[in-house]
Amino acid sequence: MSKKIAIVGAGISGLSCAYLLSRKNYSITIFAKAFSPSITSNRAAAFWFPYHIRNDRRGVEWCRTSYRIYRQLMHNAATGISMKRLIKVVREDVKEEEPVWIEFMPEGSVQMMPKENLQPGVAKAYDVQVPLIETQIFLPYLKEYLLSKNVTFEKAEIENLNSLSPSHDIVVNCTGLGAKNLCNDEALIPVRGQVALIETLTDFPIYLDNEKPLYIVPRKDAMIVGGTYEENIFEETTEPETVERLLNNAYEVFPQLRQQRIIGSWAGLRPYRSVVRVEKENNIIHNYVHGGSGFTLAFGCAESVVEMIER
Ligand SMILES: Cc1cc2nc3c(=O)[nH]c(=O)nc-3n(C[C@H](O)[C@H](O)[C@H](O)COP(=O)(O)OP(=O)(O)OC[C@H]3O[C@@H](n4cnc5c(N)ncnc54)[C@H](O)[C@@H]3O)c2cc1C
Repeated sequence: MSKKIAIVGAGISGLSCAYLLSRKNYSITIFAKAFSPSITSNRAAAFWFPYHIRNDRRGVEWCRTSYRIYRQLMHNAATGISMKRLIKVVREDVKEEEPVWIEFMPEGSVQMMPKENLQPGVAKAYDVQVPLIETQIFLPYLKEYLLSKNVTFEKAEIENLNSLSPSHDIVVNCTGLGAKNLCNDEALIPVRGQVALIETLTDFPIYLDNEKPLYIVPRKDAMIVGGTYEENIFEETTEPETVERLLNNAYEVFPQLRQQRIIGSWAGLRPYRSVVRVEKENNIIHNYVHGGSGFTLAFGCAESVVEMIER
């Protein structure tokens, strides 16, 4: 008989675990109180980039594994994943944080932009290729794929992870911010991100200035202009004056974006703690708090979950 696995959570963490497990002989049910598009994973930008995971050595392998898997998935157009040029700038008026993120990149994939190509006020810029995961395409794709592999989806709010133990061999906890109550995890906090959406220009690179902070992400349906990083804010709402500031930040660097129609805005709550929790506790495997790097880490963490199940 195949092992019965319950995955709690249908965001990128839960779906990536289900994706890797569905290739093996397991009977899988995904329980979630909400599904795409009503979850944090739909609020992500979502480009591959290690963000705020510098202290966790496990992150290097997790990020590289995800990068490799997205690059494979990209060959199937239905996934909505593409490789994009990302320009990460360091302005002259800021002190650059040590660029530890380079270590997370596949070897040889980071170039420096020639000085003569830098915009005024920019001290240096990194020129890299990263996966862009269009959540509005990839999350529905994953759900369809999993249904075709006989994974079952059940809408349910789980109040105690142990309640699933009698009927399942393994319970995988991918509840993001929901783990705050479910696991009494006081260190887990929401970090709100607000973004603006404008009419897209798909030939635009991803632009990242972590210090401002400003990022611009050209998806097929819209260009995401972000973003804020607001600790301990629980309201998933945007503020008009903040959205206007985000747009002005972008217009300052790229005046031509003023021509793009403003489409809207959204906010999401990143599940944050200083360390990602991927660990086994009896027959429960925790896989949550991926902060601002949930897509960047997802498939790497999912691979660790599979290893824990198979060990
Ligand atoms: C504005 C913004 C921009 C971002 N940009 C990026 C980016 O560019 N790159 C990147 O890698 N990451 C980015 N992120 C981070 C990323 O969105 C998150 O890290 C990621 O979505 C977390 O995924 P998750 O599956 O762990 O959680 P979620 O997507 O929150 O899913 C949690 C699931 O658990 C379910 N659940 C919770 N509690 C219970 C319960 N008690 N019972 C049943 N079900 C439950 C929920 O209903 C949901 O299905 C961004 C986030 C924001 C807000």
